[in-house]
Amino acid sequence: EVDAASPLLQNLNPEQGAAVTLPNEHALILAGAGSGKTRVLTTRIAWLLSTGQVSSGGILAVTFTNKAAKEMMTRLSAMLPVNVRGMWIGTFHGLCNRFLRAHYKLANLPSTFQILDTQDQLSAIKRLMKQHNVDDERFPAKQTQWFIAGCKEDGLRPNMVEVRGEEDRKKVEIYQLYEEQCQREGVVDFGELMLRSYELLRDNDPIREHYQRRFRHILIDEFQDTNKLQYAWIKMLAGEGSSVFAVGDDDQSIYAFRGARVGNMADFVREFHVRHQIKLEQNYRSHSNILDSANELISHNKTRLGKNLRTDAGPGEPVRVYEAPTDLAEAQWMVEEMRHLVRGDGPEGGFERKEIAVLYRSNAQSRVIETALFNAAVPYRVYGGLRFFERAEIKHALAYLRVLENPNDDTSFLRIVNFPPRGIGARSIEQLQDAARAAGSSLHDAVKSTTGKAGANLAGFVAKLDKLREDTLDLTLRETIELMLQQSGLIEHYKSEREGGDRIENLEELVNAAESFVTQEGFGRDAVALPVDELGPGMLRQSPASQGLDPSLPEVNEPAPDYVPPDAETGETLSPLAAFLTHAALESGDNQAQAGQDAIQLMTVHSAKGLEFDCVFITGMEEGLFPHENSMSDPQSLEEERRLAYVAITRARKRLYLSHAQTRLLHGQTRYNVKSRFFEELPEGALKWLTPKNQNFGGSAFGYGSGYPSTRPAQSAGFSRESFSSPPVPVQKAEPSHGLKGGMKVFHTKFGEGTVVSIEGQNEDARAQVNFPRHGIKWLALSVAKLTPVP
Ligand code: ATP
Ligand code: MG
Repeated sequence: EVDAASPLLQNLNPEQGAAVTLPNEHALILAGAGSGKTRVLTTRIAWLLSTGQVSSGGILAVTFTNKAAKEMMTRLSAMLPVNVRGMWIGTFHGLCNRFLRAHYKLANLPSTFQILDTQDQLSAIKRLMKQHNVDDERFPAKQTQWFIAGCKEDGLRPNMVEVRGEEDRKKVEIYQLYEEQCQREGVVDFGELMLRSYELLRDNDPIREHYQRRFRHILIDEFQDTNKLQYAWIKMLAGEGSSVFAVGDDDQSIYAFRGARVGNMADFVREFHVRHQIKLEQNYRSHSNILDSANELISHNKTRLGKNLRTDAGPGEPVRVYEAPTDLAEAQWMVEEMRHLVRGDGPEGGFERKEIAVLYRSNAQSRVIETALFNAAVPYRVYGGLRFFERAEIKHALAYLRVLENPNDDTSFLRIVNFPPRGIGARSIEQLQDAARAAGSSLHDAVKSTTGKAGANLAGFVAKLDKLREDTLDLTLRETIELMLQQSGLIEHYKSEREGGDRIENLEELVNAAESFVTQEGFGRDAVALPVDELGPGMLRQSPASQGLDPSLPEVNEPAPDYVPPDAETGETLSPLAAFLTHAALESGDNQAQAGQDAIQLMTVHSAKGLEFDCVFITGMEEGLFPHENSMSDPQSLEEERRLAYVAITRARKRLYLSHAQTRLLHGQTRYNVKSRFFEELPEGALKWLTPKNQNFGGSAFGYGSGYPSTRPAQSAGFSRESFSSPPVPVQKAEPSHGLKGGMKVFHTKFGEGTVVSIEGQNEDARAQVNFPRHGIKWLALSVAKLTPVP
């Protein structure tokens, strides 16, 4: 047995090998970044399968992103002839979705239930608050959304929330109404996916026992970022004979703000009586200059479990530090540097674009970088942020599709009832909502009972939708989407829009996304029947395929982690359209449009977790930005920021750049930032300053703080040829001479009064974007245009 598996163990060090081959008992692998935790987890699955200790149906593996799940499946199918598609590998949300699909009746959901993303959730809450005359000044919808998400994470239904005072009562009331609305519409939000699966397991003994018997091995990556409910869910699934294998790194816990509990690790050890705890201390990812920087930085945190990391890789290159005068200059420098890295005309270089990542603390930072890349015609790809499926035009198209699938989906109905505009005004919609409330029906069904001109318009719209639904019954997914795009008038509408070209391209891309989804999922082909290893309650079946060793199975190249197998009893499966809509809601952050292309990778630090790249740029290392301004007064949040920086630094294999800008346009305001305190916490010996090192650091002051120098040291010291792209930083004043700020009212001799939208550039180059009510938005060069502030 062990012999058969030994090739799997060859690429592991002794501690890793020990972790992979632990006996079937609970275990915690606690280890720093890049020490092979994910590799160990994946290899353990392969080892368990290949030594025949478990069938592929007996494994449940939780990853942090869909991307990670995909990667794990791809690696597994490379190691073993295994049907990864039938395996339960995915994110918490993906797995819960699959679970609820399999047991939708018991979960009290319609078979075609759809998933509300955070945007839709917010608009559903807003709508509800308006209907019930809840003052949105006192109860901002965003806060209510957080409140609801928080309750669900704590496993609390409205009737279980402890009410202290009037405010609480109101919030709980909205929570209750929101739940009823979701139930009526047949939609669930992300928190609900988790909570409902948890409750079903808790309350239904046969189901729970079935899954407990089934999942012999539960493996969880990034365990430090699980929340209370996720941990409770795992406890529910782990039966007598199951072993839970958790891997994590307390130094990389970066989701406390969203309810993650690093304390789950200690609880796990205590509650599961974990006997096996393994530490991995060898880092295989980064050269030591990078690793030393990470180690030194994180050593400034007080609350740590304590681990060491070493590497045999040698020092490698120094960590490069760059200071730019503006965010624009920072982006331009970066693009120039990237070209160099890709072209490879130095001794180093020849990197693939996808091996170069730009990381930032806040999504808002990506715009400037994207513009610079776009202008330089460098292909790039943005993860997170506004995902493909979250763009307005895509949301509109998906809303049409959702209403075709489920006419009672009010959120989607409202999104499209007057889009493209068809003369259905706010008043008519209010009337319709009143009618629906009175009749306890969906908006779609309430249209019948509306009257007058409004009624006729609405009836026309609904008739059109119903006709479209009929017409698409026999069509493929692709044809359905194409017909919908035509019939809905979306394409026509965007054609008439001045900047609608991009949007039309995106809509066409939606057709492609659907096409490739269908191919991956095997819809529409004479689908090779995949083994149904979803067992009905109480039945245990072991087909050879479900043992994962049947080489006759079709090869799965790009398995989808959100695959939902057909119902075991009825064989009922999601329609391609329903499956695609689910996929769109769960797909995390990957812009399909450019899949496959070699492109620079852009993402927030949060979404970079678990990933690695040859070259990494961490941008905007400034006080107020990174560490984030909201964190600066609270030591615990500051430690989370430091962990975030630790995550960022440890993504780099070979080359790491840290950059900051003296001024930055953020949220329409020019900000004057000092460099991040984190620079002070890095080992000087590992750094190389591409621009002269400035002695002033943040710490207490930021923004227009006193720490900012009014002049800077001479340019010669430490200035390196490597900063080839950007001229030496000019001597600068802390305060801009024009004294303008976003939002300010100004007077212009020709255009009259206007409002400053934004300011870019410095000194001679400073420009302001001003909105003049009578002349529209103008860009004005401040060295020429005389703008006087209006008090
Ligand atoms: P993170 O904390 O960032 O998630 P991790 O602990 O999960 O990191 P992995 O991503 O599994 O680490 O591994 C980091 C890198 O080191 C990967 O490229 C992996 O293939 C490589 N690696 C891990 N173990 C070994 C080994 N024994 N020999 C060679 N390379 C290894
Ligand atoms: Mg990992």
